[in-house]
Amino acid sequence: MDEQKEARYFEKTLEIAREAMEKGHDPFGSILVDDRGEILMEQRNDVGSGDPTRHDTNTLISRAALAYPPEFLWTCTVYAAMEPCCMCTGSAFWANIGHIKYLMSEHHLGELTGGGGLDLPSTEVVAHGSKDIQIEGPYEPLLPEMEDLMREWIKSWG
Ligand SMILES: [Zn+2]
Repeated sequence: MDEQKEARYFEKTLEIAREAMEKGHDPFGSILVDDRGEILMEQRNDVGSGDPTRHDTNTLISRAALAYPPEFLWTCTVYAAMEPCCMCTGSAFWANIGHIKYLMSEHHLGELTGGGGLDLPSTEVVAHGSKDIQIEGPYEPLLPEMEDLMREWIKSWG
């Protein structure tokens, strides 16, 4: 994978995350990229709607599963600002997403927020499944920016 492209995808997830926060949701965003590098779908976190399962990655994968066949999704990559939680990683498993790349780990988020999430690494979730889903993260070059966004979000809790 081209490094510049990779940076651009993660920048996109950050952009979507910021937009989500500005609209009253949690600051997370995901995109679906095909094996030619084309961004097929974008999704922001939508938990402000009142449905706490509307994590961006979960919603993105639901949409992707309805739009594309599983054989195709196996060749795609989900880029996410935040490491998919066990729910979202489970969705990736069932929808046959072949690759996941995340910017910040769930554990790192827990350290910043003081916990309250599901501190279970996505690689561990996948290790219990029958599919060899490739997971990579964190993405170090943009971690400082993601940390800044998380701190801004935490500050807004009052
Ligand atoms: Zn999730």
